[in-house]
Amino acid sequence: MNPYTIFAEIVAGRAPASKVYEDEDVVAFMDIRPMTPGHLLVIPKVAARELAELDPVVGGKLFQVGQMLAGALRDSEVQCDGVNFFLADGVMAGQEVFHVHLHVIPRTPGDGFGLRGRPTSPPRPDLDYLAASIRGALGRR
Ligand code: AMP
Repeated sequence: MNPYTIFAEIVAGRAPASKVYEDEDVVAFMDIRPMTPGHLLVIPKVAARELAELDPVVGGKLFQVGQMLAGALRDSEVQCDGVNFFLADGVMAGQEVFHVHLHVIPRTPGDGFGLRGRPTSPPRPDLDYLAASIRGALGRR
C-alpha cells in the first residue's frame, strides 16, 4: 500500500499549506478548493487512510480542534453565521485524499452549500431493526 498522500507531504513540511493550527497530533489548514471562503481541513499527523486505521483518541482530537476552529471562524473576517463539519470515510462517501481529514466549512446565507434532499421517515420497526443490528456490531468490537 502506497503511504504517499499530499496530506502526508504537508505534515512532513514538503508541500505548501496555509496553516491555521498545529500541535503534536494534528494540523489544520485552508482547503485549496474551498466549498465556501474559509473552508478548513483538520488532519491527524499519523498517516491513517481511513477511520478504521485511526486511534480513536486522535479521532476525538480532530473534533476537538474542529470545535475550536468553528469558534475562530465566527470571530475572524470570515464572519460566518454557521459551520458544517463533514468527513468522507471511503470512496463511496466521496473520499478523495486517503489520509483522514475533517472538513470545517463556514456557512453564510445563500452560499449554496448543503446536503441535498430529505427523504421521508421510514417506519419505526425499520429504524428499530437497523438500530439492533448496529448495537450488535458495537457489542462485537
Ligand atoms: P475529500 O473529498 O473529503 O477527500 O476531500 C479532499 C479535500 O482535500 C478537497 O476538498 C480538496 O480540495 C482538498 N485538497 C486536496 N489537496 C489539497 C492541498 N494540497 N491543500 C489543501 N487542500 C487540498
